[in-house]
Amino acid sequence: MSRHVLITGASGFLGSHLCDLYIARGWRVTGLDNELAGRRENIAHLLGNPAFSYQVHDICDGLPDDGRPLDLILHLASLASPPFYKRLQVETLMVGAIGTRNALELATLKGARILFSSTSEVYGDPLESPQSESYWGNVNPIGPRSMYDESKRFAEALMVAYQKTRGTNVAIVRIFNTYGPRLRPDDGRVVTEFLGQILDGKPLTVHGDGTQTRSFCYVGDLVDGIARMADSTHTGPVNLGNPHEEMSILALAERLCRVFDAPFNRSGPLPPQDENDPRRRRPDISLARTLLGWEPRTTFEDGMRATYDYLKTLRA
Ligand code: UDP
Repeated sequence: MSRHVLITGASGFLGSHLCDLYIARGWRVTGLDNELAGRRENIAHLLGNPAFSYQVHDICDGLPDDGRPLDLILHLASLASPPFYKRLQVETLMVGAIGTRNALELATLKGARILFSSTSEVYGDPLESPQSESYWGNVNPIGPRSMYDESKRFAEALMVAYQKTRGTNVAIVRIFNTYGPRLRPDDGRVVTEFLGQILDGKPLTVHGDGTQTRSFCYVGDLVDGIARMADSTHTGPVNLGNPHEEMSILALAERLCRVFDAPFNRSGPLPPQDENDPRRRRPDISLARTLLGWEPRTTFEDGMRATYDYLKTLRA
């Protein structure tokens, strides 16, 4: 009998790519999404597939048990974009707390492994760079990003508590900035904003002085890392991200203009995204290399072209 994975956040950016990956592997896939941020278009091509089932469902109300054996839960449900989590603050905290508790309860009941998608935001505005998993972070618990950061930090603690006290088979990955097709065009994150502005011939909205850095990983590489972690027996946390592509936001803007042959125009001075906007973010992926044999492979140019083409198609 084929193996069975339940994916929370199934019609979201990462969730939908994972649905594709596990269907391609011959698994049965059950997808759940409350569609607050997830979009049906992302999984529409799978809806007629007998190996795929999908429900619009809020995991804060519990996770359905369809009575069939379950091998794996990939717990991706979350509001991951700053404009979304700042608008839906309580929902963001609750999906990290109640949603994760409910996912852990089902995993424990079914004896399934459960992988939680944590984030580089657990490191906050880091005081060391690159960030390795042993760094505890520099997080403001009541700051403008706290609803997201603390929901993920709480969820990590809950995962470990279930492992220690209930014997649940848990895995944690910490995901750094990721981009690619199926990011919402209105997501508000920097890659979609800049590519959209290039497509529209508008100036690029660089926040603050633009010297803050991020490291950009292509979605195809990222979901491969998630699947490798799920296949392993490791608990983690394990960082997944692209250490080779750390750049300032200003450098990102200039580089994208070069790739897409657009003039580089910066919009008038804009305030920083928020006062806790991390200054630097770069993953140390030594653990992922050693434990999972994982390394991002897609070049900046190939990944950005795929994302640009996707956004262009959506407009047409
Ligand atoms: N950013 C920007 N212009 C935009 C959107 C984002 O300069 O139109 C900046 C933002 O201030 C942050 C970085 O790009 O410093 C990454 O922001 P994003 O929202 O993509 O994700 P984050 O890494 O902050 O979660």
